[in-house]
Amino acid sequence: MTDPRKHIMPVYAPPPQVFERGEGVRMYTEDGEAYLDFVAGIAVTALGHAHPALVDVLQTQAGKLWHTSNMFRVPAAEELAGKMCADTFADRVFFTNSGTEAVECAIKAARKYHWANGAPERIEIVTFQGAFHGRSLGAINAGGNPKYLEGFGPPLEGFTQIGFGDHDALDAAVTDKTAAVFVEPVQGEGGVRAIPEECLTGLRKLCDERGALLIYDEVQCGMGRTGKLFAHEWAEDASPDIMCVAKGVGAGFPFGACLMTEAVGQPMQPGSHGSTYGGNPLAMAVGNVVWDIISDEAFLAEVRRVSGTLTQGLKSLADSHPDKVEGVTGKGLLCGLKLKSLPKPFQATARDMKLLVGVAGNNVLRLAPPLIITDADVREAVAVLDKALEQTPVS
Ligand SMILES: *Cc1c(COP(=O)(O)O)cnc(C)c1O
Repeated sequence: MTDPRKHIMPVYAPPPQVFERGEGVRMYTEDGEAYLDFVAGIAVTALGHAHPALVDVLQTQAGKLWHTSNMFRVPAAEELAGKMCADTFADRVFFTNSGTEAVECAIKAARKYHWANGAPERIEIVTFQGAFHGRSLGAINAGGNPKYLEGFGPPLEGFTQIGFGDHDALDAAVTDKTAAVFVEPVQGEGGVRAIPEECLTGLRKLCDERGALLIYDEVQCGMGRTGKLFAHEWAEDASPDIMCVAKGVGAGFPFGACLMTEAVGQPMQPGSHGSTYGGNPLAMAVGNVVWDIISDEAFLAEVRRVSGTLTQGLKSLADSHPDKVEGVTGKGLLCGLKLKSLPKPFQATARDMKLLVGVAGNNVLRLAPPLIITDADVREAVAVLDKALEQTPVS
């Protein structure tokens, strides 16, 4: 028999399990084996699998209208943009199909803003080591990870990367050539690292003093994941000028958005930017329902409560396995166990025990469960991780 995977570009190395369906926090294989999903397609399926309200709205929309392109008005997009702007700092929204495209839009809008305001030399985007912003040419240059840049031609001009938490380097890097400082309030791929709240406030102040814009990449840490609608809301006076979202906003339907202030959005006029699919009726039908559910304060309060339970559980694991665990990282339901060795063997042991988790950075076991998990789900996951830590030899 030929390998059914052989025509897939092998940039991923998935395990042998094939998942056929999901319900709530569980996914089921073809053989009917149930797995507890604590990675949620990398922080995407925020409302779990096959959420009845999402299935319903998608099926209804599928029978009405799929796509018109942005040549025509999409009322559901106008509605969702209105909700996003009512609930955040933003005044304008551009809808995309992915996080990477939201990042591209953010970089373009930041440069265009300065160009339109008489400072075309301000093209520099300042980013932080460990950043991840996606896989387009612009996004890999912003991310600065040498592994992701290798072989894809010369690095693009206009990106400066500084050390995570290096305040002196930051002070030196933000100059009269800077278009924007671009940062994930909680780094995802880079190792589930939260920027201290006071640092976000400080960053906002620095950008204001130097005339640079502040862009947040909340593709992974936003949309309720930390227990606030967006992660930066934990910090005082730290609103951005531009924010990228995706992942949880579609809860599994692929779409993203770039949100911005009126001032930044102003130069983006007809011809400046575009997308064939971005904000199409299917995506927007789902997006409106997801937004209504997650932006509800009672929903967010429950995320904060249950994430406290999870954090406690992880801390107890750190206490009982000091030989293997260095500590607990992240924020809310984007959290991790920082290990003293590579995380993949632990991830594999957990999977053998029917718990799905992710990895991040060099040595972090990443948890990003659906936001609808219960205390019982947390207890189950922590118990499995306890056994996995016990049984996995340090490689
Ligand atoms: C996933 C991710 C992206 C890229 O999103 P895609 O939808 O994969 O293009 C960008 N930034 C962050 C922080 C992410 O986690």
